[in-house]
Amino acid sequence: MTESSLIGFSRGSATNAFFHATNPATGETSDLSFCKASESEVLNACQLASDASLKMAALSGAQKAAFLRDLAERIEGLVDQLVVTMTSETGLPEPRVRGETGRTAFQLRMFADLVESGHWVDARIDRAQPDRQPLPKPDLRSMLRPVGPVVVFCASNFPLAFSVAGGDSASAWAAGCPVIVKAHHAHPGTALLVGKAVVESVRASGLPEGAFSLIFGDGRTVGHALVGHPAVKAVGFTGSRAGGRALFDLASLREEPIPVYAEMSSVNPIFILPGLGEERMNEIAGGLQGSATLGAGQFCTNPGIVFYPRGAGGESLVATYVGKMKETASAPMLHKGIRKAYGEGLDALAGCEGVEVLVPASDDSGGGGCHAGASVLSTDAANFLNNEKMVDEVFGPSTLLVSYDSLEDLIRIADSLEGQLTASLFGDGSGLSEFGGLLDVLETKAGRLLFNQYPTGVEVCASVVHGGPYPATTDSRSTSVGTGSILRFARPVCYQGFPDDFLPDELKEGNPADITRLDA
Ligand code: NAP
Repeated sequence: MTESSLIGFSRGSATNAFFHATNPATGETSDLSFCKASESEVLNACQLASDASLKMAALSGAQKAAFLRDLAERIEGLVDQLVVTMTSETGLPEPRVRGETGRTAFQLRMFADLVESGHWVDARIDRAQPDRQPLPKPDLRSMLRPVGPVVVFCASNFPLAFSVAGGDSASAWAAGCPVIVKAHHAHPGTALLVGKAVVESVRASGLPEGAFSLIFGDGRTVGHALVGHPAVKAVGFTGSRAGGRALFDLASLREEPIPVYAEMSSVNPIFILPGLGEERMNEIAGGLQGSATLGAGQFCTNPGIVFYPRGAGGESLVATYVGKMKETASAPMLHKGIRKAYGEGLDALAGCEGVEVLVPASDDSGGGGCHAGASVLSTDAANFLNNEKMVDEVFGPSTLLVSYDSLEDLIRIADSLEGQLTASLFGDGSGLSEFGGLLDVLETKAGRLLFNQYPTGVEVCASVVHGGPYPATTDSRSTSVGTGSILRFARPVCYQGFPDDFLPDELKEGNPADITRLDA
């Protein structure tokens, strides 16, 4: 059977080139084939999104909330089918599928609550002062409005929570934007199950047809066509640095450049401060192993590099960590491309001068050619600072352990790092003031700083920041997780001198929307 794209309320043709999903655990190819969208189907999806733009922008908070809640319920209702399809397409275990289904529904409901309350629009009011000297002040009022159609690229490593109805789409819909999703080639069946649920929700909630389309096809063809289309006003992406950067460059070269919010590459450094006893170091080694190997190391917040103090405590950490990583069973990665990149990344790191391989990754890549074993490599601060290749992300269950001697080493290291999603400090809180300089540098490098905690397991809430300076993302001012992610898909609009009747409720004199406003 052949499936095709969802173009608004219609199906794409099933006559173009097609592809199949492959089970990374076994190598078995799915019977279901997926037809790649044609050029005209991509154009049609963009036109529908463009046509839907004003209607989406006019939806009330309550209407958007009803849609998001309806969708959350439908996705929860799909969980048993998702377990079958997603496990076979991704090699991820059933508890992960159930957990990610819950997270996806939670995110949709979180945005429903946000837009229903209405406070997020950042309403600001400056009343007129006709008598002001030397010039009268006009009445100015501003609030956030949707940017227009958004293209979302599904993430391979979050087939639900950062794919068809994941965080990027949910925040764009919440802002009032139509969404066109480019499915990831590694989990098309999962994308289609969720995509069909979105179409049902769009219909049931009375949203316009172009509120959603799901496109199958290659990044370099349909992906480029979507990002290049004049109707598209912003892009959400999670994936490789090369892919995110290519889309960012493409969007910047358009006649009308648009923002690309790409979340890409991060080694999430861990800094273990001096003075911790061997027992504490062994404890940290245990927690680190859990964090570094979770989901076969395929989390954007995976801790890839650990800086530890030379000495007895450091030796204890290394010995315990090596023991634990040797005992870690290999697990399938999401697709062959990711498994290949993991092997190449490890080879490149092992080839750097001064790097020793303490735990080689197993060569056995399993029936599907995607299994990956854990790996540990080590070096010291001097070698690390001499080779900028060592900061490259190796996406998978590997860790580079780097010994250091002094606080000056740590500050030089922190200074040399690229932008990161996270940076973690482990230490005894009492002596932290001594490391204030390190913290000052890390604040310029990472979106989220952690103390005595591991970076994996990103809380979805109002205060979280899942972002950071390049190459962690293409826009360090943004977060792609939490309620703040809605700001990527909204822009401020100012109304000057308008009579009250013509203002949006959020800005009217009597505050009928009953929201918090900056009222000068
Ligand atoms: P990817 O190769 O960047 O692909 C992600 C999406 O972008 C896919 O839909 C892909 O299309 C599209 N794409 C890629 N390059 C493109 C280009 N030049 N122009 C237009 N579209 C493009 O990511 P992936 O498949 O998830 O994994 C590959 C590597 O990405 C991993 O090995 C890892 O290094 C990195 N990664 C990082 C994170 C993170 O959070 N830091 C997460 C996932 C992956 P196709 O369907 O045609 O491939």
